[in-house]
Amino acid sequence: MTAQIIDGKAFAAGLGDRIAEKAATFTEKAGRAPGLAVVLVGSDPASEIYVRSKGRMARKLGMESFEHTLPEDTTQETLMDLVAQLNADETVDGILVQLPLPRHLDSLSVIEAIDPAKDVDGLHPLSAGYLTSGLPGLVSCTPLGCLMLLKDQLGSLSGLDAIVVGRSILVGKPMAQLLLAENCTVTMAHSRTADLPEKVGKADIVVAAVGQAEMIKGEWIKEGATVIDVGTSRVIRDGEKHLVGDVDFASAATRARAITPVPGGVGPMTIMTLMHNTLIAAYRRKGYDVPE
Ligand code: NDP
Repeated sequence: MTAQIIDGKAFAAGLGDRIAEKAATFTEKAGRAPGLAVVLVGSDPASEIYVRSKGRMARKLGMESFEHTLPEDTTQETLMDLVAQLNADETVDGILVQLPLPRHLDSLSVIEAIDPAKDVDGLHPLSAGYLTSGLPGLVSCTPLGCLMLLKDQLGSLSGLDAIVVGRSILVGKPMAQLLLAENCTVTMAHSRTADLPEKVGKADIVVAAVGQAEMIKGEWIKEGATVIDVGTSRVIRDGEKHLVGDVDFASAATRARAITPVPGGVGPMTIMTLMHNTLIAAYRRKGYDVPE
């Protein structure tokens, strides 16, 4: 079997078109565009790139982008004040504080200070609780993107066996909850899991979110499984830098029915689901019916 390569870039582009249409409808109704505020503390080059690309994408889709850059030595109090100000600002529908924060700042307190109705990163403990309780809330962007790709590939996921490798608050845990809500039977694996190859081998859906280059081997994968590779690791091969996933792509592609590449699979979905979440937050905050 040669797997279909799941084109996350193309799917994200299509999703972007649909978001832009709905953002325009919102703007017409509300008399203002959906607004996303992104807060960056310090000057980490990777974070600067992420923040700039989020702002650019929001504007491209017809949303308002509010970018706040604070110096590295910003105090907790100043950051909390900014979050309070953004919570109170009617034109801001989504607030994202770019992580990681400088070490002297307490990330959890900052995340907990964000109004859950504006928590477009889905990291507030209440957002996690809503997801577990099956209540409407905002869902962490990366797992939401993975779920969209899976549903596009498979339609109904009901009754399928899924394994999520990795149990972080950002990816693994919400991913498992989303799959459970789609009526999958979910195994959550982590660094202490016994006999991971055997467990992976039983799954119709494999979501890998570990951060260890190519640790999941093709021979572990069940014939015909769908594989979503969230992991990103930088490796040097033949003197050149490469970005690779958690799954050994070449060998897995001989057994899976479909697989995401790294890069070009899950990555492009993450920024687009942030836009999706901002749109949903805007509609909900205004009390409008959220469009399908
Ligand atoms: P974390 O480091 O927070 O979590 C990693 C998880 O993997 C932990 O639960 C850990 O288990 C588990 N783990 C570690 N080693 C093993 C092992 N040998 N076998 C099984 N499980 C193991 O990472 P994140 O969840 O934040 O991110 C995971 C990967 O996804 C990273 O490569 C990250 O860069 C990437 N990522 C990509 C995104 C994208 O848009 N493409 C977005 C977000 C993340 P334990 O809990 O026991 O320690």
